[in-house]
Amino acid sequence: MRKLSAGLVAAGLTLTLAACGQSANGVGDGATKGDAKGGLIGIAMPTKSSARWIDDGNNMVKEFQAKGYKTDLQYGDNVVENQVSQVENMITKGAKLLVIAAIDGSSLTNVLQKAADAHIPVISYDRLIKGTQNVDYYATFDNYKVGVLQGGYIVDKLGLKDGKGPFNVELFAGSPDDNNANFFFNGAMSVLKPYIDQKKLVVQSGQTDFNQVATLRWDGGLAQSRMDNLLSKAYTGAHVDAVLSPYDGISIGILSSLKGVGYGTAKSLPVVTGQDAELASVKSIIAGEQTQTVYKDTRQLAKVAVQMGDALLTGGKPEVNDTTTYNNGVKVVPAQLLQPVSVDKENYQKVLVDSGQYTADQLK
Ligand code: BGC
Repeated sequence: MRKLSAGLVAAGLTLTLAACGQSANGVGDGATKGDAKGGLIGIAMPTKSSARWIDDGNNMVKEFQAKGYKTDLQYGDNVVENQVSQVENMITKGAKLLVIAAIDGSSLTNVLQKAADAHIPVISYDRLIKGTQNVDYYATFDNYKVGVLQGGYIVDKLGLKDGKGPFNVELFAGSPDDNNANFFFNGAMSVLKPYIDQKKLVVQSGQTDFNQVATLRWDGGLAQSRMDNLLSKAYTGAHVDAVLSPYDGISIGILSSLKGVGYGTAKSLPVVTGQDAELASVKSIIAGEQTQTVYKDTRQLAKVAVQMGDALLTGGKPEVNDTTTYNNGVKVVPAQLLQPVSVDKENYQKVLVDSGQYTADQLK
């Protein structure tokens, strides 16, 4: 039933577009001007389990509405099939543009073919959509740099550049179906690997490959179980000095595991990195538990996506600053990269409070 109506809408759209001289690919030739401005924007976000995606969604709704568009914001609850059918529904409802932060970057090929058949342009939001020609632009942060900031923080905090060590470190990465997870891990390892090779950093578990350290769907509970295992197998007679964590939700799981065996009381907590400056983690940083996070201003990212979308729908050209890095297996997707910022106890006030991300009250 859904398929049938999607097909009818698609057929209807094709006729309308053909009538106004729309090109086969439908993007950027200005022919959609007028009927697309003010149209419906489909925004597909992965999950509400992390505050950042809630903010991303709300920020985009606000910005698109301010430009006169209607919006349909949906969350997939980290279930790939949910997201696919949400995007299908957006196409059926006649969306003029799709903005998607994928749950699994490689799972959207079929539904995006339907979008292309209906001449709907697609913006990949924060996470790269892979394996398809049918993605037009990518709005994200410098993801490799996120990893460099996390790895670099461990190096600085342990004093490795001053010749200190050896120290024990354990490594965690994000979800293997999210292209960003590789970028974060490779960025961090570009900084950590030389010290691992010199034995100034020792991974007692021996687990250094991405596939051994990845965390499906960025699940903090899974990370906590893995940390439990690492501690009981490799650290009964050794101290963990640092943990590379790619995301605050994972850091919280790692810290629970560490605290469960006396870190933070009987013995000192390791350096623990993170990402997203989630409220719970910023409070943990202030309390002296988590050590660092990487802040990415999602208000700015939403603005970038909205500017790209508005340009696409009004015959303009989206601004990009990277046309080489993000190869999705079929094409290099032109991207606009924003800059991430490392945050710890020393600078959270300036970066997070002075910028209006959080009020001082929220952090109490
Ligand atoms: C995002 C991160 C986030 C992670 C888990 C990644 O794709 O870039 O900001 O921590 O997903 O939600």
